[in-house]
Amino acid sequence: MLRGAAKNFLDIDESELDVGLQPARVGDTVTARVFIGDALDNGAGYAVELGQPHTLEVLLRKMRSETGIRLRAADHAQNCTSSCPKCLRNYENRLGMDVVDLALGEDLTPSLWDDRAAEMVETFERAFLPHARLAHEFIGGVPVVTTTEAGGAAVVIGHPLWRHEPTHRDTRMSAAISELQSRGMRRVSTSDLFVLDRTPFKVFGQLT
Ligand SMILES: [Zn+2]
Repeated sequence: MLRGAAKNFLDIDESELDVGLQPARVGDTVTARVFIGDALDNGAGYAVELGQPHTLEVLLRKMRSETGIRLRAADHAQNCTSSCPKCLRNYENRLGMDVVDLALGEDLTPSLWDDRAAEMVETFERAFLPHARLAHEFIGGVPVVTTTEAGGAAVVIGHPLWRHEPTHRDTRMSAAISELQSRGMRRVSTSDLFVLDRTPFKVFGQLT
């Protein structure tokens, strides 16, 4: 998505840029940095230009607005709900195809997922209600699905980019877990809206 936005921004061919991930450590967290470089040995200096803080900021904003709007337009969105060869899929990301997703790439802030959260948990509840007594609620804005079966269980459904380990949890997720535990909920686990959307059986499995 970044390379596509850079292509439009500089009016060049995508093959002129290399984009990839470089493992990095921030504190005790292993994460990755995105790098962008000229594909040709004697490149025209596109990467240096894109690396200027102001240029990069403009590029990232365009990635979200212009590229996002184009891909969500009816002619593409009717046939593509996550990714396809016309938008994000390519030879380089073929091994991570299951997580190449427009909504993840476009939306590094919670807004887009927040907007869909209510509809997604309601759909989940309707689909699985015949199989277990389910309910859902929002604790501090964070969706939670619960069941009263087998002593009760709850799954806190976070943003897809939130971390779940206790030491790095988003504070909203931690607050929801504390609230559920203070009510005496015996089994509280975590998941995210991407999993709920793609593999709802996993969330159901955590409840039962
Ligand atoms: Zn697509």
